[in-house]
Amino acid sequence: MSDCLFCKIVSGEIPSKKVYEDEHTFAFEDIDPKAPTHVLVVPKKHLTGLKESTTADAEIIGRCHLTAAKIAKDRKIEEGYRTVLNVGPKSGQSVFHLHVHLLGGRDLRWPPG
Ligand code: AMP
Ligand code: ZN
Repeated sequence: MSDCLFCKIVSGEIPSKKVYEDEHTFAFEDIDPKAPTHVLVVPKKHLTGLKESTTADAEIIGRCHLTAAKIAKDRKIEEGYRTVLNVGPKSGQSVFHLHVHLLGGRDLRWPPG
């Protein structure tokens, strides 16, 4: 999508602090971190969000989570981290390119706000 912030980050048109990249996924530091580790993992292919996704997207959504798990392992935060998808404006979703938040490196409260 030509007018999508995260598509532009994936392509390099907008700079980011890249954390990890493979054939299907791209991960970068959140610009406004809510925890010592706050990384966003996105599919390289544009997907709007979870509720717009179909079974055809199941593999890439799983891959995004597995990329988050790999980063959590590399950062040695496996004692407790969280993967979050905000879905819809009332959840706080502000960028409409599917992204998994990886949050960790501190105690995480439950339930989240
Ligand atoms: P959400 O509110 O779930 O849609 O998450 C969007 C996230 O993108 C927020 O946590 C923002 O801080 C983050 N964000 C927005 N613009 C950028 C950017 N240019 N680089 C990195 N993260 C960004
Ligand atoms: Zn996009």
